[in-house]
Amino acid sequence: MTSILIKGGRVLDPASGRDEKGDVWIVNGRIAKPGRKATQTIKASGAWVVPGLIDIHVHFREPGHESKETIAAGCAAAVAGGFTSVATMANTGRPVDSAMAVRYVRDRAAEAKSARVFPLGAVTQGLKGEELAEMGLMAEAGAVGFSDDGHPVMNSEILRRALEYASMFNRPVISHCEDAHLTKGASMNEGRVATELGLRGWPAVAEAAMAARDCLLARWTGARVHIAHVSAKETVEVIRAAKRAGDPVTAEAAPHHLTLDEEQLRTYDPRFRMNPPLRSAEDVAALVAALADGTIDCIASDHAPHTVEEKDREFDACPNGIVGLETTLGVILTDLVASGKMTAPRAVEAMTIGPAKVLGLPHGTLAVGAPADVTIIDPERAWKVDPAAFKSRGRCTPWEGRTLKGRAVATIVGGMLVHEE
Ligand SMILES: [Zn+2]
Repeated sequence: MTSILIKGGRVLDPASGRDEKGDVWIVNGRIAKPGRKATQTIKASGAWVVPGLIDIHVHFREPGHESKETIAAGCAAAVAGGFTSVATMANTGRPVDSAMAVRYVRDRAAEAKSARVFPLGAVTQGLKGEELAEMGLMAEAGAVGFSDDGHPVMNSEILRRALEYASMFNRPVISHCEDAHLTKGASMNEGRVATELGLRGWPAVAEAAMAARDCLLARWTGARVHIAHVSAKETVEVIRAAKRAGDPVTAEAAPHHLTLDEEQLRTYDPRFRMNPPLRSAEDVAALVAALADGTIDCIASDHAPHTVEEKDREFDACPNGIVGLETTLGVILTDLVASGKMTAPRAVEAMTIGPAKVLGLPHGTLAVGAPADVTIIDPERAWKVDPAAFKSRGRCTPWEGRTLKGRAVATIVGGMLVHEE
């Protein structure tokens, strides 16, 4: 029997409302009641002891685009950033649209022996938006939800059937809200800055209109819809109204949309190019308020690695996406918590039990009996973002060179110490 005592930290478990100085015990891979003798003691005074962080929106690119990221490298990045569970999007080099592909992702993740990986299956075959993928078989193989993320499901009839099907397996559909007709050829937010820069803009309504459609379809079918990477205040208003009406809708926001705005684009720096694009300062403020009041349920990184060569092109020609697993915690603690925009318990909730509930995962809590996924955070640790030191194969981050305060110093998955510094 192995028993680990994490001693004397600030135990912060939003799932139970616990926030006090105390100990956490782990016995045989599960959170346990206080015991008598520990085989290992980890001193945590001055640190926060929180449930293992969960990121339900990452792109690990394998199978098919291993030069961008592999499942093993993605998992290493996750635990280095304090994340013990991730949900992987299906738009890999070869899309995860079959039971075999779901099993492949799970097998590679098991070999990595690090973060837990929960695969998401595609909604449609080849992410083409035309024919439903074999959702039932994927659910059976372990897909925890469905998404064509990277692409919108433009056909409402197909999305309706996907929702009805997914709800039979009690899985949510995660929606990448983008009316592709309104965003054709666009590379940044539509507005004054885009006009000044001479770049084609991408209107907020392209996201909000699709979110409205998806919320209405959720109400109509009774099936769960999760809105990915909310970036616009109009989308927040749509989700707020849907939740007020009792629709089965949840939502996430990414660290970059919560902290950066379109003014950054004035340098034409590809590190600020992502989908959806950085919006206005007003949108950022609306997102932060929505995350604080629970309209937005959770934080998700949208970790989207590309090769250095791909991201090294001119702004107009480079692909969308940045990496996020190794910076999310530091950015949230520095720019939202230390700045006083959000309380520490709410920020931790949005990275633990919040995302766990969206996907129905049995994680995100330090309750006795729960799997012992624990992250120990030094909230005072200042560190400089150096992409060369990332475990991820991706190097592109808008926070390169920035000094952040707060870092995961130990990450424990199922009672195993998988990252320590
Ligand atoms: Zn997306």
